[in-house]
Amino acid sequence: MNKRRSTSQVMVGSIAVGGGAPIVVQSMTNTDTADVAATVAQVRALAEAGSEVVRITVNNEASAKAVPAIHEKLLASGPAVPLVGDFHYNGHRLLTNFPEMAQALAKYRINPGNVGFGSKQDTQFAQMVEIAATHHKPIRIGVNWGSMDAGLLASMMDKNAALAQPKEADEVAREALVVSALQSAAQAEAVGLAADAIILSAKVSRVQDLISVYRALASRCSYPLHLGLTEAGMGSKGIVASSAALAVLLQEGIGDTIRISLTPEPGGDRTREVLVAQELLQTMGLRNFAPLVIACPGCGRTTSTYFQELAAEIQDYLRARMPHWAQEFAGAEAMHVAVMGCIVNGPGESKHANIGISLPGTGESPVAPVFEDGVKVATLRGDSIAAEFKARLEAYVARRYAKTAAA
Ligand code: SF4
Repeated sequence: MNKRRSTSQVMVGSIAVGGGAPIVVQSMTNTDTADVAATVAQVRALAEAGSEVVRITVNNEASAKAVPAIHEKLLASGPAVPLVGDFHYNGHRLLTNFPEMAQALAKYRINPGNVGFGSKQDTQFAQMVEIAATHHKPIRIGVNWGSMDAGLLASMMDKNAALAQPKEADEVAREALVVSALQSAAQAEAVGLAADAIILSAKVSRVQDLISVYRALASRCSYPLHLGLTEAGMGSKGIVASSAALAVLLQEGIGDTIRISLTPEPGGDRTREVLVAQELLQTMGLRNFAPLVIACPGCGRTTSTYFQELAAEIQDYLRARMPHWAQEFAGAEAMHVAVMGCIVNGPGESKHANIGISLPGTGESPVAPVFEDGVKVATLRGDSIAAEFKARLEAYVARRYAKTAAA
């Protein structure tokens, strides 16, 4: 289904991006990188939620000094997660002056619109690329609508204005983003970085613009592409906008790694963006991370909130159990579990799932039939429905996803 356009594959630490590798989920911290303990804790939380690559900002000397310690503490506290350094105006200086930081990072993100002004832009960009080549690190050339290469944009606008039939300014700006990314990649290769050490992104904040920009980018290069709608926003708006844009592109085979740039609610959980990215890929059938619960929305036929509570409890249970199942069994992450509210669609949907339960609706007898692989196997009742259903889940996983000798 996924017709990947990037033929080149880039290794970010131990993670392959592009060239047919599974689409990588990544995220970014919002801690002060100089605060080692807070940053380690958040990177670990993002990694445990499923982020396969985590980006941290490296915006000053204090944060540059902290990176090696963050890297060491992460290595000592669990599975390795590749760290990406996000550099802007002073990246050339930081990467030069803090070689241990340059070595500890698995990739550098460079925004060509923010590497320097005037004649310094090219030299400072080249300096960062040379350091990447010296340390054998890949880079992501990440252009952004909010920080476009001003000189390039002005020159393209001038040329457009001189045309007999000038294009709309937005169209020129979209093209400038694409050209900026491609020219910077060519410049990086000219400096000496290998083509298979370059990932591109061109993030904008409007859905149709993003689709248009990435289609253009994908048609004109074979570098792996990092997808993300920048400044997507908070809550459901951010999730809907990101999903709408990324789903269209992913369906067309465009995109090798994704980030959902959600603005956290005050006090909200940063890991939510990781779960949304995983759920987007899984609901599209592109990757499996943890069993998904198929639940009906409920309606006037549901007698209480019990059905909603059970659906939430089972979803949480599946996520909590998945790390263990991943060790012991093979393929449990692809399991479909139905939790349905009444007899109208409950038994039918449950039969289509690997395992499903249909709770009693209003006026129905207070029993909950359970189906496994399309066959009714039990009828649960009383106060222990949740516990008994979880026990059935465990038994189903152990039986259905047992590792064979060959596996
Ligand atoms: S399955 Fe039953 S409870 Fe759920 S939405 Fe349909 S009619 Fe309502």
